[in-house]
Amino acid sequence: MHVLVLNSGSSSIKFSLFEMPDEREVSSGAIEKIGNHDAKVTLKFLSDESKLTQPILSHSDGLKIIANFLAKKVLTNQKLSAIGHRVVHGGETYSDPQIITDSVLRKIDDLSVLAPLHNPPNAEGIRVSQKIFPQADQVAIFDTAFHSTLPSRAYRYPIPSSLYQKYGIRVYGMHGTSHQYVTQQATNHLGKPTESVNLITIHLGNGCSMTAVKNGKSIDTSMGLSPLAGLMMGTRSGDIDPAIPFFLSEQAGMSPAEVDHLLNHESGLKGIADENDLREVLKQQEQGNENAQLALDMYCYRIKKYIGAYVAVLGRVDALVFTAGVGENSAFVREKCLTGLEALGIQLDSSKNDQQVSAVRELQATGGTIKILVVPTNEELAIAQQTFKLLREKKKKFCVFLPVFSSPE
Ligand code: ADP
Repeated sequence: MHVLVLNSGSSSIKFSLFEMPDEREVSSGAIEKIGNHDAKVTLKFLSDESKLTQPILSHSDGLKIIANFLAKKVLTNQKLSAIGHRVVHGGETYSDPQIITDSVLRKIDDLSVLAPLHNPPNAEGIRVSQKIFPQADQVAIFDTAFHSTLPSRAYRYPIPSSLYQKYGIRVYGMHGTSHQYVTQQATNHLGKPTESVNLITIHLGNGCSMTAVKNGKSIDTSMGLSPLAGLMMGTRSGDIDPAIPFFLSEQAGMSPAEVDHLLNHESGLKGIADENDLREVLKQQEQGNENAQLALDMYCYRIKKYIGAYVAVLGRVDALVFTAGVGENSAFVREKCLTGLEALGIQLDSSKNDQQVSAVRELQATGGTIKILVVPTNEELAIAQQTFKLLREKKKKFCVFLPVFSSPE
């Protein structure tokens, strides 16, 4: 049985195809720069990879290329079972995966008001996929769902209640699929029942977020109404004084759209070091660049503050869990944000920290009472697992041969 995972952005579609229940990724790839004459196509099947540049003007054309590739090269005479879509915002409505019906799709559209950059392309990807694979079951997996267990003291903002009631202004949190996946992996590793595991999960990619997990459930998280809140990120500011946007509007004459762009795309590591990629910032810091040094100091200091806050919130912590591009790979960042936390029972073993292993591993020194884990995340696999589980629960039949399209190619 094969489950296709689709992640549709404003100008891209990423895909992965998993053989289930073995959880083997057999194919993956992406169409990027959709809407351009030099769109980039990457198609992988086992160890073969092809890269092309060609005009692709719409998501529909992009998905047809993926469908043709899968039908002709990957799933020859085999059926596609289902399609799992990443959807960023499920609001207060969706705390679980959903089979996509007309009303679910309308709700995803309605929730665009809370995720204007993400839900519209997610919904477009679903619509295109429904047209191209009309008989396949389509499932939505929401990035906010894992955080639906936050208590009101954590999810409400101290602003007038009427704004929550009228507009739904509250903490929703993001990266839920990743936090949930690494929580499960860490729980398996620790060999404890999920209901008794307390973790601080630290997702450091281009976007960064942390979650306090109590008894296996998210009880607080650093992103908020939008992904702009919390940690310092590649290009997002994270937490700042909420008065700064008014100051910028009054003193610098900036419009709401300009402030939005500044805080989402020109801030974070990029704002301080002119580079959003942490590897580049590290290189520049090694060459003595003071802005790069400051950016790293700030980035790690903010992670450290959230660790302190979440230890306080949780009381007992079984493990810190580092994940995503930076969390899995940067020994420097892990060391810098954990130094000085020995009084909390957090003690890193530097030699274990320096080893590069792409598997779940423990980095704490003997004597540390809180474990320090690196757990590789895999959001695509998590979406495939949840899609497969939902369809099995609903006893859905798995049976769709892929159509082959004559164009474009
Ligand atoms: P996303 O999925 O959010 O686009 P990733 O999880 O791939 O992002 O993480 C991207 C970040 O990880 C970049 O800042 C990149 O520099 C960083 N990164 C990747 N590999 C390493 C490494 N070996 N050392 C330090 N940082 C790394």
